[in-house]
Amino acid sequence: MTTPLDHGGDAVPRRNWAGNVRYAAQRHHRPTDVDELRRIVAGSRRLRAVGTGHSFNRLGDSTGDLVSLAGLPPEVTLDRDRGTVTVAAALRYGDLATRLHAEGYALANLASLPHISVAGAIATGTHGSGEGNGNLATAVAALELVTADGDLLRVDRDADGDTFAGMVVSLGALGVVTRVTLDVVPTYDVRQYVHLGLPRAELDAALGSAYSVSIFTDWRSPRIGQVWRKQRADQPAPPAGWLGTTAADAPQHPVPGMPAENCTPQFGERGPWHERLPHFRLGFTPSSGDELQSEYHLPRAAAAEALAALDPMADRIAAVLQISELRAVAADGLWLSPNHERDSLAIHFTWIGDEAAVAPVVAEVEQRLAPFTPRPHWGKVFGLDAEAVAAAWPRYRDFRALLDKLDPDGTFRTDELDRLFPR
Ligand SMILES: Cc1cc2nc3c(=O)[nH]c(=O)nc-3n(C[C@H](O)[C@H](O)[C@H](O)COP(=O)(O)OP(=O)(O)OC[C@H]3O[C@@H](n4cnc5c(N)ncnc54)[C@H](O)[C@@H]3O)c2cc1C
Repeated sequence: MTTPLDHGGDAVPRRNWAGNVRYAAQRHHRPTDVDELRRIVAGSRRLRAVGTGHSFNRLGDSTGDLVSLAGLPPEVTLDRDRGTVTVAAALRYGDLATRLHAEGYALANLASLPHISVAGAIATGTHGSGEGNGNLATAVAALELVTADGDLLRVDRDADGDTFAGMVVSLGALGVVTRVTLDVVPTYDVRQYVHLGLPRAELDAALGSAYSVSIFTDWRSPRIGQVWRKQRADQPAPPAGWLGTTAADAPQHPVPGMPAENCTPQFGERGPWHERLPHFRLGFTPSSGDELQSEYHLPRAAAAEALAALDPMADRIAAVLQISELRAVAADGLWLSPNHERDSLAIHFTWIGDEAAVAPVVAEVEQRLAPFTPRPHWGKVFGLDAEAVAAAWPRYRDFRALLDKLDPDGTFRTDELDRLFPR
């Protein structure tokens, strides 16, 4: 089964994966080369690129033109000397991973699903887990993008320094990214173990216990439901009773009741990185699709305090929740990264697909997390205003200046971008 995207006749999505956003664009484009894309951008007053449409909010929802880059050649060019791969922006991580692994290479990390595009993921600061792993945007070494006037701009981590750091997590607002160069590492194997019933006091130890760790809670019981440990294959297996948990004796799905066959292999079965780091298998749908998601990044050191701040509303969270996921992400220097200069705990919520029921709970979560200057995931549901966003990101003003410089006429602006970064 594949994700239920309604791409319409010309294969440009008309709505997002979850179906809560029907894109407002009047015109749809699917160029087959970069020159055609440049002409489309230069001729448009309002335009946005769309990746695989897995975001949950309207940050990328333009009223003018919507462009899918899925018709551009699916380039994958490995540079073994530099340890990088240059890829077409619309390539899905899952497809890239298969090709990289066949060549003996890997990425340092992946998100929970392999179905998302490289450009869409890095634009929103998408992340996996692991206290030593940065989010996916931290692997970007260079970018090529079409700017508002139709010019092709290339920026490079080494040559463009601080400006480059401002352009990677771009919210799609600086131009249409056509090619991305990513750092690669030699391929590696991973074993995934699922443990049940983690005492809350062991949260920090669990998060730091393996290469990538995801912790799932339903906010209903004092113990945390599931810990998914993705450890490098050469590390020893966890001992019986690890941190007071029991080992799962049947395959698990993060959302109770959903089919575990959609998930990557468990029980410590050795396998390549791209078949263990995501929770969901490429050929299967990641979940029902009838859901909304929110996520907040907080200082890792405040993890226990932040969870305690949410405890008094646990019943209200649980009433509209499918599952929550806790992950660790390493600090980085990217201006709009949710992990900007902050080792982070990411608190994620997969909600039921009922916007009216979920909205007041999201508002209360934000209010309770406010003392920790939460940074919302740019691709998920949140209500924080420009003031809160400005307070959470020290480079907010610099990014606004970059918007004005690269897109003075607001070609890539959307209503939601205007709300968060007023002109
Ligand atoms: C089931 C599910 C699981 C998820 N798991 C995770 C997870 O584990 N970790 C996590 O951090 N997030 C996760 N997400 C969120 C997801 O990774 C982000 O929303 C990501 O941005 C989706 O990528 P996309 O290709 O679908 O981008 P889209 O939603 O299509 O676009 C996102 C933004 O990127 C811009 N954009 C897209 N392509 C380009 C381009 N070529 N040039 C410039 N801008 C562009 C768009 O304009 C838009 O603003 C999950 C989402 C779902 C539905």
